[in-house]
Amino acid sequence: MKSSNLGYPRIGKDREWKKALESFWAGKLEESAFLAQMEQIRQQHLIKQKDKGIEWIPVNDFTYYDHMLDMAVMFGLVPKRFAYDGGPVPLDTYFAMARGNKEAVASEMTKWFNTNYHYIVPEFGERPPVLAENRPLKAYLEARDQLGIVGKPVIVGPYTFVKLAKGYAKDEFERVVDQIVPLYVDVLRELELHGVEWVQIDEPAFVQDISEQDRALIRRVYEQFSQALPHLKLMVQTYFEAVDWYEELIALPVEGLGLDFVHGGKANLANLTAHGFPQEKVLGAGIVDGRNIWRSALEEKWELVKTISNVVDPDRIWLQPSSSLLHVPVTVEAETDLPGEVQAALAFADEKLGEVQLLVQGFRFGKYVISKEIAQNEKDLLRLAESPARNREKVQQARKALETTEAKRDVPFHERRDIQQAAWKLPLLPTTTIGSFPQTTEVRQARQQYKKGNWTVEQYDAFIAEQIKQWIAIQEEIGLDVLVHGEFERTDMVEYFGEKLDGFVFTKNGWVQSYGSRCVKPPVIYGDVQFVAPMTVKESVYAKSLTEKPVKGMLTGPATILNWSFVRDDVSRQEVCEQIALALQAEVEALEAAGIRMIQVDEPALREGLPLKQADRAAYLDWAVKSFRVATSTVAASTQIHTHMCYCEFHDFIDVISELDADVISIETSRSHGELVSVFETCTYDKGIGLGVYDIHSPRVPAVAEIEEMVSRGVQVLPPAQFWINPDCGLKTRGRAETVEALKNMVAATHAVRDRL
Ligand code: GLN
Ligand code: ZN
Repeated sequence: MKSSNLGYPRIGKDREWKKALESFWAGKLEESAFLAQMEQIRQQHLIKQKDKGIEWIPVNDFTYYDHMLDMAVMFGLVPKRFAYDGGPVPLDTYFAMARGNKEAVASEMTKWFNTNYHYIVPEFGERPPVLAENRPLKAYLEARDQLGIVGKPVIVGPYTFVKLAKGYAKDEFERVVDQIVPLYVDVLRELELHGVEWVQIDEPAFVQDISEQDRALIRRVYEQFSQALPHLKLMVQTYFEAVDWYEELIALPVEGLGLDFVHGGKANLANLTAHGFPQEKVLGAGIVDGRNIWRSALEEKWELVKTISNVVDPDRIWLQPSSSLLHVPVTVEAETDLPGEVQAALAFADEKLGEVQLLVQGFRFGKYVISKEIAQNEKDLLRLAESPARNREKVQQARKALETTEAKRDVPFHERRDIQQAAWKLPLLPTTTIGSFPQTTEVRQARQQYKKGNWTVEQYDAFIAEQIKQWIAIQEEIGLDVLVHGEFERTDMVEYFGEKLDGFVFTKNGWVQSYGSRCVKPPVIYGDVQFVAPMTVKESVYAKSLTEKPVKGMLTGPATILNWSFVRDDVSRQEVCEQIALALQAEVEALEAAGIRMIQVDEPALREGLPLKQADRAAYLDWAVKSFRVATSTVAASTQIHTHMCYCEFHDFIDVISELDADVISIETSRSHGELVSVFETCTYDKGIGLGVYDIHSPRVPAVAEIEEMVSRGVQVLPPAQFWINPDCGLKTRGRAETVEALKNMVAATHAVRDRL
């Protein structure tokens, strides 16, 4: 049995990778110094894995931005709007593709499967693919010649690469794969010539719903590889779910297959035991969860590996994490301030590799060599299981009771609409915002002062109150119809609630890469989630006291809190989500009782939690949507519930949105201009729609005419009474002056349309 890794986090223990990148972009670091720092980080990571005893260490998993972008530039897939005339893609072109530059907008970025990592979408059809540079070979030679590490180059396989790319019509998929395969052969042949033994070829798209035609294509592609590369061994690596076409997969003419025995583990194991595994192939067995932050239950893993090795000869098993460790932080070393039972149960990338190695040792030399570690592990996990935070009877009972509750509002929407209109008397096309106002340096500094202890609570509260007051005045002056308090007290829409609810902890250094140099530090949900005290009432009530206009309360929804956190794995995600929903229900009720009768519950990440397989989606949506309703359905008919989703692809999500039963949903429409009308034309949605009429991601101030045009288009297809007018997301990253100007234009445009109606 061998130990293996699929990919190591790039960001570095102290995010030195991020810092180097950002200094370089800011012009504070010369290119040569930047490259030297990157090399050092890359090599440190390899040495670390070697020191941990990992035998098959991945190379070429390191990147300056994103591994899909690396693949695209390897194949010279540089869109025409960027300067490029063949050969290795220069660094500034590479970063321009990732981030845009003065002349050209960046390439599109989107989520990597069901993770919170975002990749740059390769664009076909702009330039024909060529082999511009053999990047995996470079990585392999560096590790071998400088460190004496014989690595396993990692590349994204052709099926997955083309599936995730754009720039071709659906029916051209096969043609594009056929076009790129010879280039893969060239890359792989060079690796073979340089004596590479194994290549890890990542095909996570294999776990999605795959047509018969696609399976034939995959078979054809891998046959081509096998014929062209007689000596090179390919480990076709799948992860994030089980493969539905197991028998065909294991018949592919490759030397190794990697399966995820954690996510989709049950189905993969069932297939393995039912259909066996080819005698001559190596099994990459993903047994340590590459996506969560908890220690493995070693005894259970031991049993799992034993079951696997009843089918596959241990000589031909590589034990490995279930996926790349890119999705977890680097090491728990810095986590010294957490409750003891949590601290002892955490495992980040380094600790996970330790677990892999430990299990390999046990199988190699006998279980007794790791019996001490297994015993300690059992103790640690038991301590967490017995923690009072995981045993809140009341929360668990309330959650259980939801099984027999419908969680529906008493009064149906069409009746609520009239009741609410009578209560609020809003004009046609009411104007509002999504919640946050600019978090200026001043606001961020104030929070720092408070966190460092330089400011007292009173000082900080007074500062926040002053911000609210200023912005209520500004909103009145702009002439908005429904005001917000501005979210100045929140750094982050999930962290803020996590800090105030029971069941969460926050790590000191638990950063993971989200996209490019951007890292996030997700909260950790480790216990039963419980409402403690009102979290947003004070700020909303204060804002309301300053104006005659309605003030909308502002919360983050249960699915978003769940999907943007690291979640305990001893109970189902559904249970955790429903616990959060109950806690939010208490907050919604507290707001209502305090006189806040318009409440927005944001769910920008509801869609992100969608399972990879179509068949699993309905079940997820069922409980995620119900959770939203649990949080929002106990209010009076006159209380208006809003929700917000950015990038929600309204057209294929209408049924789900409708099920939420929110009175108003605000959505992004500004970047999908052309589609707007067609989306609404076929729309059966009768609840309120907040048109996100301008893009908050850009500092550009939209002209009145531009917004007017968009609003007019909307009211031509649906009854005007259905629409609200707002920016497409929160304004927290924008500057003050541009925000005021843009909102003034938005209001002027709305008035112009209103006057014509
Ligand atoms: N209310 C949040 C804000 O305005 C919503 C943010 C989001 O959708 N990502 O910042
Ligand atoms: Zn948003």
